[in-house]
Amino acid sequence: MTTVPKVFFAKWKKREFEKRSVFGRAQRKVKHASGKEVRTAYLNVPNKPDYRRCSRCVLDTTVSDIWFDAAGVCKYCQIHDEMERLHPLENMEEDLGRIVERIKKAGRNNTYDCIVGVSGGRDSIYTLYLARKLGLRPLAVYFDNGWNTDVAVSNIRKATDLLRVDLHTVMADLDEFKDLQRAFLKASVPDADIPTVYAIHSVLYEMAAKEGIGYILNGHSFRTEGTSPISWTYMDGRYIKDVHRKFGSGVVRSFKIMMLPYLLYYSFVKRIREVRLLEYIDYNKKKVDEILARDLGWAYYGGYHHKNLYTKFFQSFLLPNKFNIDKRKTELSALVRSGQMTRAEAIAELEAGSYKYDRSVVIYAISKLGWTLEEWETVYFRPPRSHRDFKTYLPLIRFLRLPIWLACKLRILPYILYLKYAS
Ligand SMILES: [Zn+2]
Repeated sequence: MTTVPKVFFAKWKKREFEKRSVFGRAQRKVKHASGKEVRTAYLNVPNKPDYRRCSRCVLDTTVSDIWFDAAGVCKYCQIHDEMERLHPLENMEEDLGRIVERIKKAGRNNTYDCIVGVSGGRDSIYTLYLARKLGLRPLAVYFDNGWNTDVAVSNIRKATDLLRVDLHTVMADLDEFKDLQRAFLKASVPDADIPTVYAIHSVLYEMAAKEGIGYILNGHSFRTEGTSPISWTYMDGRYIKDVHRKFGSGVVRSFKIMMLPYLLYYSFVKRIREVRLLEYIDYNKKKVDEILARDLGWAYYGGYHHKNLYTKFFQSFLLPNKFNIDKRKTELSALVRSGQMTRAEAIAELEAGSYKYDRSVVIYAISKLGWTLEEWETVYFRPPRSHRDFKTYLPLIRFLRLPIWLACKLRILPYILYLKYAS
C-alpha cells in the first residue's frame, strides 16, 4: 500500500460547509399536502443557529429535504409510522403466510419460485435463510462489481452451500463499471454509490423475467435500515444515463441499466413483484447476527454496509467529508424508531466522533479508480451538486403521483415508492 503524506488527508478533511444549502437553494417555506408546518432546511452543521434535529429520531437539517411537524417530528419518522401502519407486527404472521403461499403457487411449475439478490451482508443473507426456512425455492443472484471484500464473498458461498441454493453470478466489466463510478464522482453528486445498487436492481428484474420468476425478495427493512432521504441518495435509470453521458465514456454493455419502460414492462406485463420479506418479521439485528453465525458461519464485515470496499470509501470518507452526509444517522434513526436503541444512545454514538474511515481504503479506492492524487483532488474539490442538476424521472414521478399511488395501493409497486418520491 502506498503511503500518503498526512497533509493530503488534512486538506481533504477541511471542507467548509456552507451555511446555505450546497444545492444553492435558499431556505423557503413549502406547503406540504399534510398542511403541517413545513420548511426546507439549510444544509448545515451542529452549533449553527438554524440547526435542528428531529425530536424522535436523530435525523437533522443536514438532510436538505427534511421537514418537521408541529411536534418537531421529521418527515422520515412519519414515513416510518405509515409503513408500520401498513405492516403492523400483530398481523405479520398471517400476512407472511399468505405471501409465501402466493409465491409458492405462482412458481409451482418452475425450478425457482423467487429470486434473492445477495451481497454477503446481514440483510440479504438473512432473506435467503428465511426464504429457505419458509420452504421457498430461491435462486440467489450475486452482482460482482469488483470491489467486494473476501468476507462478503465467503459469506455468500457458505450460505448458498449450506442452504442448497443455486447461485448465479453476474460479473460487471470492471473497466466499464469504474468508468460509471468515476462519472458519478466527477458529477460531484452524493449518489456516487448508486451505480451498484441500481445495477443489482436491474439485474434482478432482468433475471426474473428471463427465468419466468414472479417474485424478487428484497432484504430491505424500514425497521432496521430506515429510509434514505432522497437528497442523500437518489436513483433512477434516466439519472444514471445522464451522468454517464456527461461525465463517462463509452456505453455500458456488461449489465443493464433499467429504464422506466422496462420497469413498467416487468411490473405490469411480466407481473414481477418485489417483496420485502424482512418487513413481515420482527427483525432484530443482534438476534439475526447470532442465528447467521451459528447456522451459516456468517461473519460480520464491520461498519455500516461495508461489505464492499467502494461503499466503505464512499460512506465513511467521501460522504461525511465532502457532502456533510453521515449515513449512520439513517440507520441509527431506524433503530431508535423500532425500539432497538434509545435516542440518547444514538446521539451519544454520533457525538462520540465523526464517521471513522480507514486511510488505506481511501488510497486503495483512489488508485483502483485509476486516479493520481492530483487528479483525485480536482474531482474532490468540485462544488457539490445534486440529482436536480441532471435529467431524472422525478418530474414525471411527481406528475404521475395518482396512478403511482393507485399501483402502490394495489401492491403492484411497493408503497414506500409513493411515500418517498411522490408524496
Ligand atoms: Zn425523525
